[in-house]
Amino acid sequence: MNKLNTIKMELATNPLEKLVKKHTIIAGPCSVENEEQIHEIAKQLSASNQVDILRGGIWKPRTRPNSFEGIGAPALPWLKSAGKAYNLPVATEIANSLHAEAALKAEIDILWLGARTVVNPFAVQEIADALEGTDIPVLVKNPVNPDLELWIGAIERLHKAGIENIMAIHRGFSATGNSQYRNIPKWDIPIELKRRIPGIKIIVDPSHIAGTRALIPSLSQKALDLDFDGLMIETHHNPDKALSDAKQQVTPEDFKGIIDNLTYRERKNEALNLDDLRETIDDLDKDILDLVIKRMQIVKDIANFKKNHNVTILQSGRWEKMLEDRIGYGEKNDLTEKFVYDFFKAIHAESINKQSKIMND
Ligand code: PEP
Ligand code: MN
Repeated sequence: MNKLNTIKMELATNPLEKLVKKHTIIAGPCSVENEEQIHEIAKQLSASNQVDILRGGIWKPRTRPNSFEGIGAPALPWLKSAGKAYNLPVATEIANSLHAEAALKAEIDILWLGARTVVNPFAVQEIADALEGTDIPVLVKNPVNPDLELWIGAIERLHKAGIENIMAIHRGFSATGNSQYRNIPKWDIPIELKRRIPGIKIIVDPSHIAGTRALIPSLSQKALDLDFDGLMIETHHNPDKALSDAKQQVTPEDFKGIIDNLTYRERKNEALNLDDLRETIDDLDKDILDLVIKRMQIVKDIANFKKNHNVTILQSGRWEKMLEDRIGYGEKNDLTEKFVYDFFKAIHAESINKQSKIMND
């Protein structure tokens, strides 16, 4: 394992090269409901001129039985023919090897693994085995729980089966308690995925993050601002009547409005001269480290003193008092309580380890 824990993976530089522009825009209904529905949506989406790939769920993983669980295999040719009619490549979710085989047979262009599948390494491996020897592009959604290793593990399983056209989809993580989101975005996790697998492309699915239409435009803009590589937006010609995820689907007209209103910022750093500012940041980071190193030296002196006088390492009142003081100062200067707390917790944990070592040597 290298120090930064990054994973070298030979991935296609643009996994959907033949199919899309710089950003990948995927749209279409949560579920394919009938032949007319998918044709109508494809027609309206194609008229928007803003979509690269038509999505449609065929097998729907639903939390409770008695919900609409998708049409299943009979809907595959409907999806394919809608794509053909409007010159759009088509994508669907698969959750086991039977789905994989049926989708390949129906010449679906792109497959994705859903959040509920990615949590299960057995299912992912079964799918990887079923796809071995094909060059179909596969999109891997994050698992429902915020576990980056599971997400990476699924990508690795597909890659080991010889799939090179892999992209990830960020659809947020199951939330407990009150949240404005259906699935909380935790942007740090997909950002860390990009760092761990250099070169991987990530599409953001604002529909499943939001759970409601109103949040989709701002989430989409955020995805672009954070330099993600595309969007997947659930789109239905009659969203309120949709058989699944009705609240979060938008009409093709609204979809077009969302995409038209996005601000595409320059993606290449070289275009801007940020060198001076970056150099300052590099210097400041070194200063921060130097201060922490100096602080640790004092911690060691204290540990020797405590050892000689036989007093405990942790003096509880002191730690609470320190935290309160640092958090108060941080808040006055626009740093959140959580950040200051996490920052000092990490420093404090390192201090305690160093002191324990000295005291018990
Ligand atoms: C979907 O895309 O319709 C879907 C079921 O998504 P997820 O796996 O993200 O819940
Ligand atoms: Mn859905």
